[in-house]
Amino acid sequence: MVSRVIPVDPFDLVIFGGTGDLAQRKILPALFRRYCAGQWPEDAQIIGAARGDHTPDEFRKMTAESLRQNAPMRAQDVDALNGFLQRVDYVSLDALSAEGWQSLAKKLKENRVRAFYFSVGPSLFGPLAERIRLHDMASEHTRIVVEKPFGHDLGSARALNATLAAHFDEGQIYRIDHYLGKETVQNLMAVRFGNMLFEPLWNSQYVDHIQITVAETVGIDGREDYYERAGAMRDMVQNHLMQLLCLIAMEPPAKFDPDAVRDEKLKVIRALDPVEPHHIVRGQFAAGPEGPGYRDVVSNPRSTTESYVALRAHVSNWRWAGTPFYLRTGKRLVARSSVINVMFKDAPHSIFGEEAGRHANALSIRLQPNEGITLKVTIKEPGPGGMRLIDVPLDMSFAEALGPENQDPPDAYERLVMDVIRGNQTLFMRGDEVEAAWAWTDPVIAGWQARGDVPKPYDSGSTGPGDAELLMKRDGRRWQGIKP
Ligand code: NAP
Repeated sequence: MVSRVIPVDPFDLVIFGGTGDLAQRKILPALFRRYCAGQWPEDAQIIGAARGDHTPDEFRKMTAESLRQNAPMRAQDVDALNGFLQRVDYVSLDALSAEGWQSLAKKLKENRVRAFYFSVGPSLFGPLAERIRLHDMASEHTRIVVEKPFGHDLGSARALNATLAAHFDEGQIYRIDHYLGKETVQNLMAVRFGNMLFEPLWNSQYVDHIQITVAETVGIDGREDYYERAGAMRDMVQNHLMQLLCLIAMEPPAKFDPDAVRDEKLKVIRALDPVEPHHIVRGQFAAGPEGPGYRDVVSNPRSTTESYVALRAHVSNWRWAGTPFYLRTGKRLVARSSVINVMFKDAPHSIFGEEAGRHANALSIRLQPNEGITLKVTIKEPGPGGMRLIDVPLDMSFAEALGPENQDPPDAYERLVMDVIRGNQTLFMRGDEVEAAWAWTDPVIAGWQARGDVPKPYDSGSTGPGDAELLMKRDGRRWQGIKP
């Protein structure tokens, strides 16, 4: 199978915050890999922009160093590095003053895609949008890319949407949720809407429940201030887990077109019931042999910010009435694993008798690590001794199935940045989607605050607080293991 690389149109990409962690660790390595793959046109350029007083050469050196650390290079990529760096430039400017903007304007070329990536703190999104307009840098081929977090609650998300809308059309605004750029997330749509096999079963008649797990082993080091204000509900559930839930639950769009897909996702969010307080568990990692506890890390012995959430959600529509969606995410858990498990119902009657046991199919969609899809099916245990049933996985590990040239699929940022240049918004969140997600999230957080809720401690390296197990147990179900 030959992977197809279609070069994009000529572009200027300005990365505000080009010297920052995200730009150096993710965005520039992603651009370099696409350059090595031959997806860049002849004279595309990247311009890093930040307040730091660096020369373009110093910025290129910094970038080269980051690429060596963050983009594993084959021999031919080492040769390509110089070519890539020649396309990299730098301007010192301040988002909050007029300083440096004229220099940036001089570097931009006419009649090409112009993308501005806001890889800076959210308080600068509005000022940047304003200055781009003020300095007359925007044209109909201009796009802006906005990183998360998109607002802190519904009010701030609305205000941010309004600020951006004052300067750009919705069709020019690319709100990033990097989960949507993952190969498997798009495969989820291919599996659902490209096959007859699953769609007829994809409803409450056949699906018992759905589990969405995003488990991390890392803590919050380096992000303490932000995280203490956000917590897992805002940092993960409102965006990443919500997007995954939408892709699982949405109706088939009429076509694979940005607004058709996003219309369907929006309907799902709007069909979500408010979460009942007894259907949600908050946790906070405690101090232990694995390291300091959450409260030590944020230096706040009374912190009530959650580093873990598990909850039961309901999508109230014809397809999903009666099928719960269990979502969980946390820091410092036993393994790094993002997986969606679609748990089908038991067969209505076992012709093999009780001794054969109860067996249900499950479709596991692994987002990381080892992206792939596994279907658990029931077969006869080989050998004599009667009809004993066992569950075996039908594994669609993409790396194996798609051959050596597809062993290393593009990472999420590679795909998303190229989609920005191509002008394809399918994998980006629309303003109304983000607002609807906050409208569902806000009452949950307000409820915790009103009740003075304190998160339950859990051990680092565990699967989270015991109450999360109870959440399932009460419903006669259990979580699938968190495996690396
Ligand atoms: P960071 O490491 O603190 O970098 C911030 C960048 O912004 C630096 O280049 C900084 O350079 C520049 N900057 C700050 N104030 C500026 C101003 N007034 N004018 C122009 N440039 C300014 O932050 P980051 O981790 O890269 O995060 C950037 C954004 O991405 C944030 O919104 C964050 O929430 C989001 N994000 C980050 C990650 C991640 O893994 N890091 C993941 C998801 C989302 P100077 O100080 O020299 O100006």
